[in-house]
Amino acid sequence: MLKIWGLQLHSGFTFTYPNSIGTLWAYLSTKKDIFEHIELTGIGCRAEDSVVDLLPEVDENGVPDVILVTLYIWNTVRSNKLTKLIKEKFPNVTIIAGGAEIPENKERFKEFVKNNPQYDYLVWKEGEIPLEMILRRILSEKNIYVSDYYDDCYNYCKDGEIITGTKKFRYLDHKNYLDIPSPFSMGLFDEIYEKYKDINLQAVLETNRGCPYSCTFCDWGLREKLRKFNIQRIQEEIDWMTERADEVFIADANFGILDRDLEIAKYFVKSKIKHKNPRTHSLVFSHAKNNKEKVLKIAEILEKFDLSRSGATFALQSMNPDTLKAIKRENMNISTDFDWITKQFLARGVPYTNELILGLPLETKETFFKSLDMLLEYNPLSMNTFKLQLLENSEINYDNHSEKYGMKWSKFRQTDSKYEDEREIAYLIEETNTMPREDFKFTRLIRDFIEILWMGKIVYFIGRYLQKEKVVTTTKFMIDINDWFKSNDNEFWQTFRASKEDIRDGVEVPLWYDTDKFKFHRFVNAFIFLAGIPDNRERFYNGIKQMCFEYYPSIDKEIIKDLVYFNDNFVVDKEMSIRKSFSTEFNWVNYFMTGKLEKEYCNHELKIYNVGNKKKSLDRSPDELLYYMAGGHNFLFNKQNCFIYHAGSYYSQTSKLNFINKYGLFYDEEEFNNSALELIKSLQDEFSEMGVEEKELFNKFLHRQN
Ligand code: SF4
Repeated sequence: MLKIWGLQLHSGFTFTYPNSIGTLWAYLSTKKDIFEHIELTGIGCRAEDSVVDLLPEVDENGVPDVILVTLYIWNTVRSNKLTKLIKEKFPNVTIIAGGAEIPENKERFKEFVKNNPQYDYLVWKEGEIPLEMILRRILSEKNIYVSDYYDDCYNYCKDGEIITGTKKFRYLDHKNYLDIPSPFSMGLFDEIYEKYKDINLQAVLETNRGCPYSCTFCDWGLREKLRKFNIQRIQEEIDWMTERADEVFIADANFGILDRDLEIAKYFVKSKIKHKNPRTHSLVFSHAKNNKEKVLKIAEILEKFDLSRSGATFALQSMNPDTLKAIKRENMNISTDFDWITKQFLARGVPYTNELILGLPLETKETFFKSLDMLLEYNPLSMNTFKLQLLENSEINYDNHSEKYGMKWSKFRQTDSKYEDEREIAYLIEETNTMPREDFKFTRLIRDFIEILWMGKIVYFIGRYLQKEKVVTTTKFMIDINDWFKSNDNEFWQTFRASKEDIRDGVEVPLWYDTDKFKFHRFVNAFIFLAGIPDNRERFYNGIKQMCFEYYPSIDKEIIKDLVYFNDNFVVDKEMSIRKSFSTEFNWVNYFMTGKLEKEYCNHELKIYNVGNKKKSLDRSPDELLYYMAGGHNFLFNKQNCFIYHAGSYYSQTSKLNFINKYGLFYDEEEFNNSALELIKSLQDEFSEMGVEEKELFNKFLHRQN
């Protein structure tokens, strides 16, 4: 019997079930002739302090003959360290590594092998068939079980030298459904669940494999066609996860690309209905780029049945046509369908997130700001702007992109650890020939302000008014804020700017919360500095008022004063009062709903229903609530519930309205609930087979006061 131990280290931010190792093992279980000669003794996936702490786990159930390792950007440094220690302790063990971090470029691969002599076999791309072949070889060599194998689909190395290389990529058959059992349904992770059930758990659901695109910065676009897992397997996995995962990450590159994806989305709801105490409260997924109606329906179902973390993610990456061409994304309909999609999403109260990448070829400071301004006019829930990261096996890394586009990269620590050699490394873009370093730094600064001040809603209502009235664009508003505070209250502003810097770069930054209790996270600290410290808050909003008086003289001072007061009151504060009331001279809720500003005295009663998407979280301390409201990472959260009071009523001389405030848009509560009810009714036939009533569904999923 060959004893095998698996290693799939989690990212350090979230704990995720080790799906890759599990899927490989599930595949091997279909190869009956070898499966009876192999035994999985355990999977190492989490180390509290140092990765060295995992060493005793390696031989807990017997000394392994083989170690399986999966390497990705978030675990390569630690995995390389641990496997070297394992090889030292058990010199006879054979170590097989796979994953996207193993270089496919000849020279870089040679170097990787030299630096990592602990690895005996290294696999590129999809791992199932190469792993089966390697195990057949090892079983034959050890005379445990002799069978034929292909030796052309993996790299065999010895003491840091490549002995034989890959000649062929062998993928699972794409003509049929991927016929692999589920590691979740097989019970492979039951023990892991028992061990870690008290922390937040994330599960990865793979409903299909492959991506029809080939973006130059990505390591994913496969040369193989899209292949599907069968629906029964997916449903079984969802049922397992509903009870044992707080969040499900759908790993498909384009969820919604297949007609059946709508059925999968509905199955999440059905599973939540079926289980008495469902644990899953959020799904994260990247939507298909070319199937807008389906995408909208899926997002609406997940949102209205309370299963969405931050709505649909639209990974646009750039809006600049020259850039899109350079990165091979010019043919995606998403750029042209965007107007339709966003308007439909907002009308139905379904949030969405945009993603842009900073530092792509041919992007300039001006084109980037133009993209941001355009996207922010549509009003996304969230605007993620990532710095371009160099992925080992991306076209950008191997083609002459760096030379052609003047791309310069910097080494960056992407995870924190007290051990120098356990900090994961990323290479991030620092400049290109169209975005010199100074422009890059400035673009990043404005991006940060947008994240904290606009997405964090600190000046959102003010900015939205100025944007709607065509006084100033979002990026110009951020630039104005920066300029005004630098000139008028520089010390305060520099402290704020320091508070958003990243502690992992070794910068001494002031922290505004108990670091023993909470982890540091970019932007959370800056949000708390402004919104959570009363003196700072007063100073900031006074400054904003003054700035608006000076910079935008066309706007009546009375309007500015009232608007700043309105914005200030909508953002949560240190006390985290669940209810609060205040009055304004203008009817701002009506303005943000209809675009018409009336001067009428309004009394507002505001409420917070929940923080994050674990609905019982309001019984935490104000400090803790504020941390999560600010987007803290320890806790899986729902950004749409963050930063602001998410419901309330206003009373004016002429009207009264109960409203839902989602991502800074106001919806009539009754209309909003009715539209959710409509959705329930449209699905009622399917749910009535399960014996659930409409009312029960409404209360279980949509009642906002649970
Ligand atoms: S970035 Fe997305 S769409 Fe492009 S190749 Fe990668 S997975 Fe596919």
